[in-house]
Amino acid sequence: MLGRLLDVLFPNRCAGCGSGPWPFCAGCGAQLIALSPPWCERCGVPWSGARPRCPECPPAEIDLTRAPFLFHGPARHAVHRLKFAGWRPVAAALGGAMVAVWPPSAEPDAVTWVPLSRRRLSERGFDQARALAEAVSAASSVGTVPLLERTLDLPPQARRRGEERRAAMAGAFRPVGPCPARVILVDDVLTTGATAGACARALREAGARHVTVLTAARAVPAPLPARYTRGGLTPGSVVARGTSSR
Ligand SMILES: [Zn+2]
Ligand SMILES: [Zn+2]
Repeated sequence: MLGRLLDVLFPNRCAGCGSGPWPFCAGCGAQLIALSPPWCERCGVPWSGARPRCPECPPAEIDLTRAPFLFHGPARHAVHRLKFAGWRPVAAALGGAMVAVWPPSAEPDAVTWVPLSRRRLSERGFDQARALAEAVSAASSVGTVPLLERTLDLPPQARRRGEERRAAMAGAFRPVGPCPARVILVDDVLTTGATAGACARALREAGARHVTVLTAARAVPAPLPARYTRGGLTPGSVVARGTSSR
């Protein structure tokens, strides 16, 4: 209750801890972990193997995936605030950082999102991926277009492995109309890419030729590489760049 009241009175509080200055206070900023090379060139996970692609790269229907942050610490708290507390200013805090890591090769015609099912949408009251897509759109001037519908509402997939997730998601989305050639697909977190892959398949069926997946955070299996456990928000980082006025 106090949280809801504070949201109304002081909407722009730190997206990580909920009390410091927006978008991330100094303490939370120091704990954010920005993804950076060496990484898998295609999906952006920490990877320093001989091949440019990691062994668990997302499905082939996705051309490229990027996220500003590891799904950890304040970035995880921020996603949960948006998703479960419906704290919408978080979308703007994360959306600016997402645009800052937008790959130059994306050149999108439209921004769209991984939609919730109708039932989940009516339970939750709003679609967090749509809120992020709209924030990305506002920070980039590329329009948001609803391109997908979720036809299957599956139970949470946290315990399923990659192949099982992909099989379970097959056919879970369908296009709502023709799709432009180059699309940015927005979601809150990318884990195996099974959900985003099913969306990308539906977008391609409707005419997409290039699908870039942009998420607020990227979940990677523990343990984190040592270079990421130091963290830290430095001047010119994705947060600093992503939230500057433009
Ligand atoms: Zn904070
Ligand atoms: Zn990869």
